Amino acid sequence: MFRQSKTVLQKLRNLRFQWQNPSWRFRSTSATERALQYQAGQKIHGFTVKEVVTVPDLFLTAVKLTHDNTGAQYLHAARDDKNNLFSVQLRTTPMDNTGVPHILEHTVLCGSEKYPCRDPFFKMLNRSLSTFMNAFTASDFTMYPFSTQNGKDFQNLLSVYLDAVFFPCLRELDFWQEGWRLENEKPTDPTSPLVFKGVVFNEMKGAFSDNERVYAQHLQNKLYPDHTYGVVSGGEPLAIPDLSWEQLKHFHATHYHPSNARFFTYGDLPLEQHLKQIQEEALSKFERTEPDTAVPNQPHWDRPREDHVTCSPDAMAPDAAKQNTLCMSYLLGDITDTFEGFTLSLLSSLMISGPNSPFYKTLIEPKIGTNFSSVVGYDGSTKEASFSIGLQGMAEEDTEKVKQIIVQTIDEIIANGFEEERIEALLHKIEIQMKHQSTSFGLSLASYIASCWNHDGDPVQLLKISDSVTQFREALKDNPRFLQEKVLHYFKDNTHRLTLSMSPDEAYLEKQVKAEEEKLQKKVQALSESDKKDIYEKGLELLSVQSKIQDASCLPALKVSDIEPTIAVTPVEMGTAGGVPVQYCEQPTNGMVYFRAMCSLNTLPEDLKLYVPLFCSVITKMGCGGLDYRQQAQQMELKTGGMSISTSVNPDYSNMDMYEQGVLLSSSCLERNLPDMFHLWSDIFNSPHFDDEERLRVLVMMSAQELANGISYSGHMYAMTRAARSLTPTGELQETFGGMEQVKFMKRIAEMPDLTQVLRTLPRIKRHILNPLNMRCAVNSTPQKMSDAAGQLDNFMSNVASNKKDRKPVRSDITERPLDPLAAPGSGPSRKLITEPNFKPCQMKTFFPMPFPINFVSECIRTVPFTHEDYASLNILSRMMTAKYLHREIREKGGAYGGGARVGGGLFTFYSYRDPNSVQTLSTFRKSVDWVRSGQFTQQDIDEAKLSVFSAVDSPVAPSNKGMGRFLSGITDELKQAHRERLFAVTDKSLVDVAGRYLGIGQRTCGVAILGPENDIIKKDPSWVVK
Ligand SMILES: [Zn+2]
Repeated sequence: MFRQSKTVLQKLRNLRFQWQNPSWRFRSTSATERALQYQAGQKIHGFTVKEVVTVPDLFLTAVKLTHDNTGAQYLHAARDDKNNLFSVQLRTTPMDNTGVPHILEHTVLCGSEKYPCRDPFFKMLNRSLSTFMNAFTASDFTMYPFSTQNGKDFQNLLSVYLDAVFFPCLRELDFWQEGWRLENEKPTDPTSPLVFKGVVFNEMKGAFSDNERVYAQHLQNKLYPDHTYGVVSGGEPLAIPDLSWEQLKHFHATHYHPSNARFFTYGDLPLEQHLKQIQEEALSKFERTEPDTAVPNQPHWDRPREDHVTCSPDAMAPDAAKQNTLCMSYLLGDITDTFEGFTLSLLSSLMISGPNSPFYKTLIEPKIGTNFSSVVGYDGSTKEASFSIGLQGMAEEDTEKVKQIIVQTIDEIIANGFEEERIEALLHKIEIQMKHQSTSFGLSLASYIASCWNHDGDPVQLLKISDSVTQFREALKDNPRFLQEKVLHYFKDNTHRLTLSMSPDEAYLEKQVKAEEEKLQKKVQALSESDKKDIYEKGLELLSVQSKIQDASCLPALKVSDIEPTIAVTPVEMGTAGGVPVQYCEQPTNGMVYFRAMCSLNTLPEDLKLYVPLFCSVITKMGCGGLDYRQQAQQMELKTGGMSISTSVNPDYSNMDMYEQGVLLSSSCLERNLPDMFHLWSDIFNSPHFDDEERLRVLVMMSAQELANGISYSGHMYAMTRAARSLTPTGELQETFGGMEQVKFMKRIAEMPDLTQVLRTLPRIKRHILNPLNMRCAVNSTPQKMSDAAGQLDNFMSNVASNKKDRKPVRSDITERPLDPLAAPGSGPSRKLITEPNFKPCQMKTFFPMPFPINFVSECIRTVPFTHEDYASLNILSRMMTAKYLHREIREKGGAYGGGARVGGGLFTFYSYRDPNSVQTLSTFRKSVDWVRSGQFTQQDIDEAKLSVFSAVDSPVAPSNKGMGRFLSGITDELKQAHRERLFAVTDKSLVDVAGRYLGIGQRTCGVAILGPENDIIKKDPSWVVK
């Protein structure tokens, strides 16, 4: 690695890095070029090539094929990306609410002909270096994607996936476990009451505790009532127990057939090998069928409809009296018309995105509701698309007013159209999205084409985004009223329109519980004594199968020796701009420049801390310099790929009671727009607007609503953050910035009648945070652009120099860590960390009652920091406990959607997700520690845990994010390599040893938190704090 401390400008001009792959800019025999050799009509392994197309915008070559015997469709996207992806999607179009496609999606992953062991899918997670493995059930298709950077691994996973999808066992016990079953509450006690259990049953109960999800589901069902979109493909919880095992097998036989399948592969691995394997292991065993799965168009209504639904009240709603949702939904055209879909999604953005859009002005700014309805804008996930517009968080009496506004706004759009600059801003955004390199590009492509292809649209046409842009520009040129006419046709003159309102019902949960109880009683009453005996015995059988030591040796696996022994080095250069330290990282960013800055909070008075997340969320949205907030939003869209600020709390890598606190500025732009982006940042530093209380109120309401909505989805994150609160100084600050404490704080702010006081704190915070003396920056760009970027950054720094104020840190206990780890302490720029040597971790158990039918449980234990010699063992241990114990106990037996353990920030954290159990899960956590200490695991278990940890450690990092770990936390490549070597060295002895020393009762300081429904056990136990 090259280092020097002179000014970076001078140095970068004559420096060339030694790239690992020096030809990345001019790849000669690349995957994209190799794919161009294929020709239409060519036969390969049972397939015929139909079309070969270059897509220069996305740097790929698309090869379209059809399987001769079965008619299976195939698309390969050859691209010079090591993160290869496979996906197979089946068109699954259920006609009832039993959730049959969803339960099938779970059950096929439970074992297959060639891989008959239980749960090969979850087992492969630990036998592979996959970067992604999952399965999804959409409204009308089911998709099985995986990705990996390792060729051998690709073949292994492909073999397991093909066998699972086309030759699953579909055993009755798998159906019981994954779908639903009647079982004694305590399976070992035949006198305990019978209850419903099952993974999907509980998953869907959890999903329907989310009001946004409830609303979206109703809206789709009611807008397309006549075919498959009229039912819940995931399963209506109370309809799930109507599904039989025979129906499940029948659905598989009719839907999971190659003639109903679409295969997609992506990346730099050769196509022929994929085709050969797919032909040999699956397709050669089938003959063509005529699957009856096509979705007919929804018959158009001749007049609009209205409907109403209820939901559970939201305890966190910013205003309890305003919890209604209302939206109007319009049926649009067929999504297989690619250009029409492109036009309508652009039109949708113009209508609703950002403060310059007509609906933002007419619906959001008058503050009738807290935010747009959860379903808003263009939705192309159904055969015919839809557009929805409305509000959530509104009062019932405003219903008529909102309907009127929607109709009027559409009239205004038809009359006035859109400003040209807004259209340009949107097209610019599309350009940025095409250039930005993400690490999961293959997966994004697979999901992008899935719906259109599912209905026999042309996926290649969909990839040619520039063609659509060109066609769009021409359409506008030919007819300036092009967009207005679309609005007239699809909105004003459209009689297939649904107005759906939703209001909270105090008795909603109670009614659900009662309905479930009635359903249960009906099932139970129909049982004879011998049926009950049968159920008891099946319950025991399932339990014994679940508890048996499992032989997974039939599954392919990588070995620990397949893992790269050393990490790929990311070279960075340190320099300064206007006295501020800068990290430069040259990357193939494809014409984008990424700029970040970390600003310390060390001088910020303690009483302002709670306000920092609010400050971050509004500072780029209030207007700056000569721009009001609308113009600012417009400039940001026209010139950048986004500008944002967020809190950043980073624990030190070697000391548990030390951390850096700050906010992180993040932004990106096309190279040509660099001066404009820095100009915007200068205005935000020098003259942000803090005078518009009405604007602030709109932003506060929207973020309070977002936070409240997020709990039912991310409850485990809130539980974990809370459990960590009393264990480290970092944990405490993270709760302040992003935990339940912050959610409640924002709710209080949103309820304040007068925000002038809040408005006045913003400039106070700004003076402390946007201060170049407490700042360091990072730039990622191409080598060609780096010196120019450095020059622009220098300019920016001199423009904001007047914000330099030498302020005293609030705390005196500050430790400095050099930014350049090889520099002598005190010789160069440093990160300033807060030390709290007197921090006393303490036990704490907190319960948050929530209107959900399921729990989120977490327990957190203070352990050791990243560089400690035991950290690697704890890391491997967390994976092994998750895969070999917690998954089985919490998900398979307990019926929760998920659960496990993880390490980070000096903590060992247990969690469960959408869990029917609460305090029982805490004892499962404890038992998992006994399980490790008893040593009942094998070398294979340890090796699998290592593979699983390394697949996370080595997961691909996008060019935009390279070097960020080092920039934020000071974790250098050398520290990472040392950690890597410790991971390799972990043994069975070290696992048992750390489990005893850190996790054993009496050895640990732990915090516990649960979010969930009213809980009698906790209520009676005084050791709990109930919030
Ligand atoms: Zn599921």
